[in-house]
Amino acid sequence: MNEQTENQEIWLKKISIIVPFYNEAENLPIISRKLVDVCGGLCNKCDYEIIFINDGSTDLSGFAIEEMMNANKKIKYLEFSRNFGKEVAISAGIHHSSGDAAIMLDADLQHPPELIPEFIEKWENGAEVVIGVRAKDSSDDLFKRLGSYFFYQISNWIGETKLVPFSTDFRLIDRKVIDEFAKLTERNRMARGLIAWLGFKREFINFSAPPRQYGRPRYGKLELIKLAMSSFVANSLLPLKLAGYLGMAITFISAIIGMFIIIDKYFFHDPFNFGFSGTAILMVFNLFLIGIVLSCLGVIALYIAKIHQEVSNRPLYIVSRKINFEK
Ligand code: UDP
Ligand code: MG
Repeated sequence: MNEQTENQEIWLKKISIIVPFYNEAENLPIISRKLVDVCGGLCNKCDYEIIFINDGSTDLSGFAIEEMMNANKKIKYLEFSRNFGKEVAISAGIHHSSGDAAIMLDADLQHPPELIPEFIEKWENGAEVVIGVRAKDSSDDLFKRLGSYFFYQISNWIGETKLVPFSTDFRLIDRKVIDEFAKLTERNRMARGLIAWLGFKREFINFSAPPRQYGRPRYGKLELIKLAMSSFVANSLLPLKLAGYLGMAITFISAIIGMFIIIDKYFFHDPFNFGFSGTAILMVFNLFLIGIVLSCLGVIALYIAKIHQEVSNRPLYIVSRKINFEK
């Protein structure tokens, strides 16, 4: 409970704003001023904190907000010892937030802070996760747009957790989600995927992302591909089982062809003059054996999949509401 006076009955809610950044010296003064303005506007309704996470910046980003931090104690600051990546920075912000809800957004002004009241409104109307979804007209090159399209298509096809296409990290999560998120222990993580896995009541806000204000995007094409691969591996066991499926298909097809050749050649003495050579027969036999080897790999993959699930060490279930329980 925050700053509650004796005759003030309403419970002042607190919003945590989480901003991970890496080398954003030019953008930081602008975003922090905007955030303070927007949050100040909410002031009679909500208290706030703004948590900046310096993800091992090598420029003067840290100094860029020092003055503002000294003037406003609601601006908080975490600094990593090195660059750990945005996903880990977001996680650290969530772990350190003390609000009734947390809103995370990028430091490069691609996630307009002006939309924060809309997120809060949806939350007050009962949503526990409010997700910003990028409109199609958002500024991105073809590689990113196509990449994003295929990422969500493949992810939803093979993944166990469905992701909403074009959903971004611009999102609000309720305290319940914050607490559950803190229990997730995997190191290879993508905050978006984990929050999707947690479930809870979701709402969406469409927004159009402006180009980044200053600087270049940190995630190059290679990093984005790596992030996508790691998300597939975390959310899906299909790549692991692929060898098994392939093996079963090869075994099945080569067994049928092999049987056909044997019956044709040795039982009916090749009535249609196919003339299967010894090499061809050897080839089919070889394929059959390859199929068996791949099938065995598939069986091993099943065991590895189990180990994968166990070491991810996710909680068995997520409780979204409790009534009449001691805390
Ligand atoms: N970022 C970070 N650590 C990194 C890379 C990026 O904290 O290793 C921050 C970056 O400063 C920005 C946000 O993550 O606030 C999004 O990064 P970027 O704009 O490069 O990604 P994009 O908009 O292209 O997805
Ligand atoms: Mg950006």
